[in-house]
Amino acid sequence: MATQPFHLLAKPTGAQCNLDCAYCFFLSKELLYPDSRFRMDDATLERYLRQLIEAHAGLPEVVVAWQGGEPTLMGLDFFRRSVEIAARHLEPGQRVLHTLQTNATLIDAEWAAFLADAGFLVGVSIDGPADVHDAFRVTRGGRGTHAQVMAGLAHLRAAGVEWNALTTIHSANADRGREVYAYLRDACGAAHIQFIPIIERVAEASADGAVPWSSWRDRPLYEQRGEAVTARSVSGAGYGRFLIEVFEEWVRRDVGRVYVQMFDVALANWVGVPPGLCIHSPTCGRALALEHTGDLYSCDHFVEPAHLVGNIAERTLAEMVASPVQVRFGEDKRDTLPAYCRGCDVRFACHGGCPKDRFIRTPDGEEGLNWLCAGYKAFFHHIDPVMREMAGLLAEDRAPAEVMARHAAADARRGRNEPCPCGSGLKWKRCHGAPPRAPAAPPPAPPGA
Ligand code: SF4
Ligand code: SF4
Repeated sequence: MATQPFHLLAKPTGAQCNLDCAYCFFLSKELLYPDSRFRMDDATLERYLRQLIEAHAGLPEVVVAWQGGEPTLMGLDFFRRSVEIAARHLEPGQRVLHTLQTNATLIDAEWAAFLADAGFLVGVSIDGPADVHDAFRVTRGGRGTHAQVMAGLAHLRAAGVEWNALTTIHSANADRGREVYAYLRDACGAAHIQFIPIIERVAEASADGAVPWSSWRDRPLYEQRGEAVTARSVSGAGYGRFLIEVFEEWVRRDVGRVYVQMFDVALANWVGVPPGLCIHSPTCGRALALEHTGDLYSCDHFVEPAHLVGNIAERTLAEMVASPVQVRFGEDKRDTLPAYCRGCDVRFACHGGCPKDRFIRTPDGEEGLNWLCAGYKAFFHHIDPVMREMAGLLAEDRAPAEVMARHAAADARRGRNEPCPCGSGLKWKRCHGAPPRAPAAPPPAPPGA
């Protein structure tokens, strides 16, 4: 009987996708399976779901999470079968949560109705307003996809599907944090938002970070190696600024109304409960990736030969998740922290970030510092007073949203020409004291909705 759940992202089409997002290094993972059709077969589907549910015996919930590539390329019938197979294997009293991460460009009314009926939680990749989104999220012909995503999202919303926004932070939106956030909240209607920093490692880039290709389809297999990054990547300082800008908007208007994963995770660490996100936990190793062939890798970010744990046709998921090699993978997150992190005053909130991003040196020259360190430090220091206040409210059984009243009172006393408390250096009236930029019109209703 399992005592602890684990999370697994399954890729039924492998790395295959109908789009060609410029920063998507996962496209290159097609090279791992040169002769494949990139479609999970029914025997693998059945084996996977049976093993996943067996590994969660005795636990109240099993999460079946589909990701890609683009999983909707499998077609609806695959997911209908998946729901039916999972239901057949559940223990009495056990429930299943189906999730799907998608670029939403293939979502129509039929998809949306199915996802609503089956209770899917859908993650939609959207990077902000059209000009930001279309900078990198493009078709194979290089055309922007924003309009298609908004049409897919309109279907999801019309059908009442629960969804969250997955928004990558990169060179085209890092300095537009408040605007991107307001767009997701107001124009897209997002109530749950995850920000994902883009950090594309390369062996070398030119001085301006430019690389001589536009798609990872044209490149050798992407592996977590190299100490340079592409020009699309976000800097540590840029990521910190982005998060602070968003936080200062959220803490004034949206606490308890809009859920930003990074803020929930931070509050959990300030309160002292497990944060539910591997990146800011002491150890990891319980968020694995399953390829369409049944190959299991240690993590979605380490789908590469050195981190292949095994295949579900040969060993069970439960056995592989508990295997010494996987446990070591997870404990290395803590055990390889440089001294600089071990002595850091926000280590309790940061935990050194994800090992995939630890490729710079500490100020005293030790290897293994996270590329985002400057941003993490700035962000965690900036939010410390509010997090303490929220943790105090929770300890008294009061709602963290009460912090908004204190901010409103302080803002009312602030002069229009005083500096903005976000630290931008701008006057209050020109920064968070001004209304957020008006978002674009809401998405049109889908035809026939
Ligand atoms: S903020 Fe920087 S030094 Fe501190 S734990 Fe995170 S990565 Fe390490
Ligand atoms: S390597 Fe990074 S993304 Fe993967 S499980 Fe560990 S912390 Fe999470």
